[in-house]
Amino acid sequence: MSHKNNLEQRAQKIILESGDDGIMQSELWKKLGVSSREGSRLALKFEEKGTIERRKILHEGRWSYKLFSKKEYVTLDTINGCPCMICQEIDKCFEGGLKDPLSCLDLSSWISPKS
Ligand code: SF4
Repeated sequence: MSHKNNLEQRAQKIILESGDDGIMQSELWKKLGVSSREGSRLALKFEEKGTIERRKILHEGRWSYKLFSKKEYVTLDTINGCPCMICQEIDKCFEGGLKDPLSCLDLSSWISPKS
């Protein structure tokens, strides 16, 4: 893996781990050990890709950016109870197929259960 990709992955991980609180971009640069110029370029790139949100905030009397991840951790809990996991028809199920996830009632009610 190249140094650049490694840096991007580390940055994304730190932003993701900062959760709903986000992270000041200057703090991220410090953790990564990069210059503010290199860091800003990285943040802009992530924003263009849609993986983070940059929010302008007043921090210690100066305007700065706080970074928030738009990604979420995927865990096994995320798919707990999904009917597809035990479905006998899964091998016939695809968009436009004999079984179609877009029209499957079991899947729909698992995604949006009625309260
Ligand atoms: S979408 Fe429905 S039919 Fe398709 S695998 Fe899942 S539960 Fe089975």
